[in-house]
Amino acid sequence: MAPAQNPITSKHVAVIGAGAAGIITSRELRREGHSVVVYEREKQVGGLWVYTPKSDSDPLISLDPTRSKVHSSIYESLRTNVPRESMGVRDFPFLPRFDDESRDPRRYPNHREVLAYIQDFAREFKIEEMIRFETEVVRVEPVDGKWRVQSKKSGGFLEDEIYDAVVVCNGHYTEPNITHIPGIKSWPGKQIHSHNYRVPDPFENEVVVVIGNFASGADISRDIAKVAKEVHIASRAREPHTYEKISVPQNNLWMHSEIDTAHEDGSIVFKNGKVVFADSIVYCTGYKYNFPFLETNGYLRIDEKRVEPLYKHVFPPALAPGLSFVGVPAMGIVFVMFEIQSKWVAAVLSGRVTLPSPDKMMEDINAWYASLNALGIPKRHTHTIGRIQREYLNWVAEECGCELVERWRGQEVDGGYLRLVAHPETYRDEWDDDELIEEAYKDFSRKKL
Ligand code: FAD
Repeated sequence: MAPAQNPITSKHVAVIGAGAAGIITSRELRREGHSVVVYEREKQVGGLWVYTPKSDSDPLISLDPTRSKVHSSIYESLRTNVPRESMGVRDFPFLPRFDDESRDPRRYPNHREVLAYIQDFAREFKIEEMIRFETEVVRVEPVDGKWRVQSKKSGGFLEDEIYDAVVVCNGHYTEPNITHIPGIKSWPGKQIHSHNYRVPDPFENEVVVVIGNFASGADISRDIAKVAKEVHIASRAREPHTYEKISVPQNNLWMHSEIDTAHEDGSIVFKNGKVVFADSIVYCTGYKYNFPFLETNGYLRIDEKRVEPLYKHVFPPALAPGLSFVGVPAMGIVFVMFEIQSKWVAAVLSGRVTLPSPDKMMEDINAWYASLNALGIPKRHTHTIGRIQREYLNWVAEECGCELVERWRGQEVDGGYLRLVAHPETYRDEWDDDELIEEAYKDFSRKKL
């Protein structure tokens, strides 16, 4: 950790978004002594975890920029893909609640339980008093060493306010990323991205192709298989010749490699040579980063899912520390990442911790890109750091002098990931890591949480 050169100062900070990242960040900023205003477009906290049966107005692929949008991307049947012990914030664990029948005490609970936990957190730490609900940030720009934040109330009333710093916590699971399929323009069927998937009913008796077989693709394909005639998964991760029947009660689910082409007669040709006449395609192909309100004169760019330049995925060197991002990396230990990254941001803003010079930060960023290149990791995975999540988080934790990530947490998340890949149907209800659960709960009681 770099020694602080300056006296500790309190800053006036804007946080954009009151999802899990925003509420955790605002707590850490206030703990460090900053004055905080949180802007939230919606009426409540929770972000992604506020389920809505509504979807975007463009029912197909949602590429129309003028469409009316919904923020959340979760489907009715969603349960967490991370066990609750690992998911919770470290001094406010995500414990099962048996005192309230509306709560889901399972290890991998449903989405309502996560929203209830986020609401509990907001209540416990009095976060709502910092939030301006139904207020959308429409522009953020640097002005004379400060930051101007322009926001719009639900009635359309615009307001400008000047801050010392802005922390961006707007989430990155709302803007669909679509894989291009040769011939798709003339293909006549329905197309939908997982962002707009809610329930399987619209797919009853259909032949459906689901693209992607990671967390959402694995869930959604099994959900649709309950009502569809046939479901065919296209997985980029599989060998080109892959063609396997997957065991589900309906006996109607197949795994293929990638799609090769789509045709006017409704056929989809897979790289394994199989041909399917499909009614619908569901794209479970991930999301794009999007910061439509940020005006940095071209300094900050998004290129193939790389937000650049960002030092350790948090600080853009020439604009730091006034501008920072919490939650950019994709990994399994998400809420603890918000906690550790925001402690770092809070400590840098107060002057308790110093950043390297902009040149040194750029050197580090370029070294990171070079290491990805050397490993043959594509640019789009710049922020997909699940394989080094604990190492990364511990580096940040050491930088700001906070507790390191517990060994059991890393092991639970890594083991859960392997179970998800091997047994997507059962990994939430059958496990072999009871000793890690025990260690987690011992840890919670040792800390008297
Ligand atoms: P969000 O929850 O998306 O919150 C962003 C907030 O910013 C929203 O409230 C939005 O309204 C607000 N906002 C955006 N733009 C503006 C603006 N211009 N002005 C004002 N407000 C704005 N993680 C886990 O740990 N466990 C899981 O099991 C898990 N499952 C997932 C399943 C799915 C299908 C997906 C897509 C993700 C999952 N995740 C999971 C990861 C998820 O990203 C995190 O759990 C986390 O909730 C994201 O929090 P966030 O605050 O970064 O973003």
